[in-house]
Amino acid sequence: MRRRSSASAIASKRAPAPPAPLHATGNGAGDPAWAWEERRWRGAVNKVRAGRSLKPARWKNGARMCVALSFDSDHETSTLREGSTSPGRLAQGEYGARAGVPRILELLRRHDLRASFFVPGVVAELHPDEQRRVVAEGHEVAMHGWIHEGTSELTEGVERDLMRRAFDTLAKIAGRPPVGVRVPSWDFSATTLPLIRELGLLYDSSLMADDEPYELLDDGEPTGIVELPVEWIKDDAPYFGMNRATAIRPYTAPAAVLEIFRAEFEGALADGGLFVLTMHPHIIGHRSRIAILEELIRYMKGMPGVWFATHEEVARYCKANA
Ligand SMILES: [Zn+2]
Repeated sequence: MRRRSSASAIASKRAPAPPAPLHATGNGAGDPAWAWEERRWRGAVNKVRAGRSLKPARWKNGARMCVALSFDSDHETSTLREGSTSPGRLAQGEYGARAGVPRILELLRRHDLRASFFVPGVVAELHPDEQRRVVAEGHEVAMHGWIHEGTSELTEGVERDLMRRAFDTLAKIAGRPPVGVRVPSWDFSATTLPLIRELGLLYDSSLMADDEPYELLDDGEPTGIVELPVEWIKDDAPYFGMNRATAIRPYTAPAAVLEIFRAEFEGALADGGLFVLTMHPHIIGHRSRIAILEELIRYMKGMPGVWFATHEEVARYCKANA
């Protein structure tokens, strides 16, 4: 009892809101998990769950597999989200807009490929011409939070407000309402799915319950929302990330990252499945790294029966054909 009252005292000091959001975060506030009743752990697990597989028997035009390339245009928000205004750090993000995106668009144009760009609302406001160019060149612009906020830290009301703001901003700047979302840092909260339903989105690409597309269940109820699953393995950030001030520098050589990505692609090809690759313009856009993306693209294009599509195209196809 003493433990509970001190926990709620801390919660009320932190924020005036009722303690409900702490439950939503799933950050373990309250009783230790070993003391939970079945209803509680089962309820937590069933909140957002993978439903029926949406892997089609055959991909578009008889293709054997599907490749969905995505770029999360975090740019300056990878610094702003922490409340930092350091010009030095902001410049690293600015690189994504100034050098990364143009280089990526040029590469995609040369290989005649379409991709999806997940863009925070603040990035769209900072770089509206970039979003218009991305759309004009046939790519998809989709949601990626407002300022790359940590979703689990938000109350439901704040999360709803930021999602609506992001939705309206992308609709205005990109010229059409977004149909998909990738939650920043894949930090999907217990209130994210109902908000996705409220916005009427077609798909999410933030969860990791399968290699293949599936339908999201909301407390056991089928939602019709397509999940295009992701994984840190198929993401450039963990391999190339570096923090100058800490010992965190798991630097991986570009050639080794290419090897991992290629093995993931080959596995998807063998399964006749989906290969979703997540990259960041301020990370993959550097010279030594864009080179491995081009090599990977050449390799994948060299295989027969590979369908390259945007996330929106994949989600629509899976929903109609699975
Ligand atoms: Zn991001």
